[in-house]
Amino acid sequence: MVLIPARMSEAEEQRWVNVMLDKLAAQESKRNLGDAELAERARRLSDQYFDGRARPASVRWVTNQNTRWGSCTPSEGSIRLSHRLQGMPEYVVDYVLVHELAHLLVPGHGPRFWRLLDAYPRTERARGYLEGVVAAGRLPHVPGGRGE
Ligand SMILES: [Zn+2]
Repeated sequence: MVLIPARMSEAEEQRWVNVMLDKLAAQESKRNLGDAELAERARRLSDQYFDGRARPASVRWVTNQNTRWGSCTPSEGSIRLSHRLQGMPEYVVDYVLVHELAHLLVPGHGPRFWRLLDAYPRTERARGYLEGVVAAGRLPHVPGGRGE
């Protein structure tokens, strides 16, 4: 009974170390992608992880998305990423892109969806990072949680 919270706080501590290291890495290579680069990146990620099957018609940054990291409208083939991701490590931005690309293939967050996400090797780490950011109070939502 006493051991569980102790172990969890150790895990939390480790997560924070990772978050801080990621922040440092992000600052070092801080360079924001433009919409065109973002679309190009999405195309490459789709080729790499989904054999090019996810083909968004548009990929762009939006500033009006404060409760979600990314969203997608499969009927339009449009993907939107929150500008709050700008400055985060590349693998985190890539995760959100891969996540939204996967929604073009599979709606919802069922087993088929997560099997697709397994192709991206840093899914768990990126989710941990975003959870850390959420825990810091910046955003109330993590992709793969409810409602997105
Ligand atoms: Zn989702």
